[in-house]
Amino acid sequence: MSIEGLMQEGFVTTSLDKLINWARTGSVWPVTFGLACCAIEMIHTGAARYDIDRFGMLFRATPRQSDLMIVAGTLTNKMAPALRKVYDQIPEPRWVISMGSCANGGGYYHYAYSVVRGVDRIVPVDIYVPGCPPTPEALLYGIIQLKNKIRRTSTIARR
Ligand code: SF4
Repeated sequence: MSIEGLMQEGFVTTSLDKLINWARTGSVWPVTFGLACCAIEMIHTGAARYDIDRFGMLFRATPRQSDLMIVAGTLTNKMAPALRKVYDQIPEPRWVISMGSCANGGGYYHYAYSVVRGVDRIVPVDIYVPGCPPTPEALLYGIIQLKNKIRRTSTIARR
């Protein structure tokens, strides 16, 4: 039977990778990890005006129920072990968005002895959102780029 025939019978053909990625992109749950002023923009993104719930995204207060960490703000050396510990508690597959100049590379505090010059020194980053602070629209664009990246991920074929 041709594919058209299957569709007439009410069947849809796809690959398991596409099905898994479709489910993943529809339920990316970020763990709350606001560190400084960028966190206010992240909160704004989650509030009524931008409403990231419509993307299937719900902020969780525990890493064990999350698969995304949005690092929003300045990461200090003192905070870095805690960030890594929370990241390690997120089950695989997991993703990281670095939000704002401070998280991307230290920002204003690049030469401060107390600040980490980029969260990618502590955790692997998938998407960088530039700006000081990035607007909610910029974070939304970063989230859409992350979803595009997840769609390109191959879970079954890689094995
Ligand atoms: S990038 Fe700007 S807004 Fe964001 S935490 Fe740093 S100083 Fe604050």
